Amino acid sequence: MTNSLDLKTEDNPYWESKWETLPEEELKALQLKRLKETIARAARAPFYQKVFKQNKIDPEKINSLDDLRRIPFTTKEDLREWYPYGFLTVPKEEIVRMHSSSGTTGRPTVVFYTKKDIDTWANLVARCMYMTGVRRKDVFQNMMGYGLFTGGLGFHYGAEKLGCLVIPAGPGNTKRQLFLMREFETTVVHIIPSYALYVAEVCKEEGIDPQKEFKLRIAFIGAEPHSEGIRQRIEAFFGIDAFNSYGLSEVNGPGVAFECPYKNGMHIWEDAYIVEVINPETLESVKEGEEGELVLTTLTREGMPLLRYRTRDLTKFLPGKCPCGRTHRRIDRITGRTDDMLIIKGVNIYPIQIERVLMSLPEVGSNYLIEVHKRPTGDELLIKVEVKSEIFQEDMRYLEGLRKKIAREVKEEILVTPKVELIEPNSLPRSQGKAQRVVIIE
Ligand code: AMP
Ligand code: ZN
Repeated sequence: MTNSLDLKTEDNPYWESKWETLPEEELKALQLKRLKETIARAARAPFYQKVFKQNKIDPEKINSLDDLRRIPFTTKEDLREWYPYGFLTVPKEEIVRMHSSSGTTGRPTVVFYTKKDIDTWANLVARCMYMTGVRRKDVFQNMMGYGLFTGGLGFHYGAEKLGCLVIPAGPGNTKRQLFLMREFETTVVHIIPSYALYVAEVCKEEGIDPQKEFKLRIAFIGAEPHSEGIRQRIEAFFGIDAFNSYGLSEVNGPGVAFECPYKNGMHIWEDAYIVEVINPETLESVKEGEEGELVLTTLTREGMPLLRYRTRDLTKFLPGKCPCGRTHRRIDRITGRTDDMLIIKGVNIYPIQIERVLMSLPEVGSNYLIEVHKRPTGDELLIKVEVKSEIFQEDMRYLEGLRKKIAREVKEEILVTPKVELIEPNSLPRSQGKAQRVVIIE
């Protein structure tokens, strides 16, 4: 265990200086040591037994980080096919927790944790929170779903490990959230970015000025793709720092990659994961700095290690060293998932490209929906855009001008002209979990 190595004095910027600032060569040596342990352990799981046998891989002969490439990728389909216990390396009695991914299609993918896994995970989350400046004295309101989703309990345990006062608020019931924030002087929240914008709307409706009435200083925003524009809106309205938080249930949950105070990409914890970025078509590694699909090998998971797991998330490595002194590389904000891609009139489009344009326009409110209408003559794009309430009062000619401007600016980004419909603030349905930004209409 790594969490007792440091004296966590309030002015030490690191939760675990030794591991967070480990020189590159030592980090690689640590990865290799942990990789060998992980592979030996994985060889006990029925799925990896099959993989090793089929590919004639002798786990004892994986002797370098490059040797990892001889092992095939693990996919979400594999997790589904070997559902529920095919990835377990320990008897079921040693499992103390189950979570599942929030996917809505097909069988859920379930993940299992031993007691040690829960502790290792909590430590990673505590490391992330501490990195942004959260300390024991903070009051942490977790507005993520508690239950099968990892964002609730994952952060809860991390914040408790750090020593915060934790309010397990869960999502929704916005007026109660605001009450809790005021009453208990919440300083840190964890919230889905689309929901944070909704909370901002409710504050406006209720005449609440969060900068005067709350003690809020930090938000962790994650669980769904979001643009820099969304972060800036959240920061400006609440008068806080918002940090991007990335993770996925298959490899623990939150705590995989996280922004430091420099907000220049997310440090991905290389003592806990081996990170590859591949071209999803050729499956080869992309050149350093090119965008591709993130592939993760877990190095500290006991009950259910994963080797070369294809996350489907698209990102790239960012160059250079971070001034914060952490040696773990940084990845760029996730631009979407390989399966999010829309093909309209032969052009590949990611929803986040549309969001980036919308959020750069001050007239645009906090929510939007992309509809893809299937037509025999080719699919059409309709973007429903909530505008700010003061804009909605304007005359027809103004609104028509705005509508055309949005269509023009989106076209410049995606090369396809969308239809645009302006709608009243708060008229699109809100979800308590991840926002649904795209609907396909057959
Ligand atoms: P789940 O396993 O249900 O928690 O979902 C994990 C998925 O949510 C990831 O694979 C990403 O697609 C998405 N996700 C999580 N955090 C972020 C983030 N900070 N930015 C963009 N997408 C994210
Ligand atoms: Zn940094």
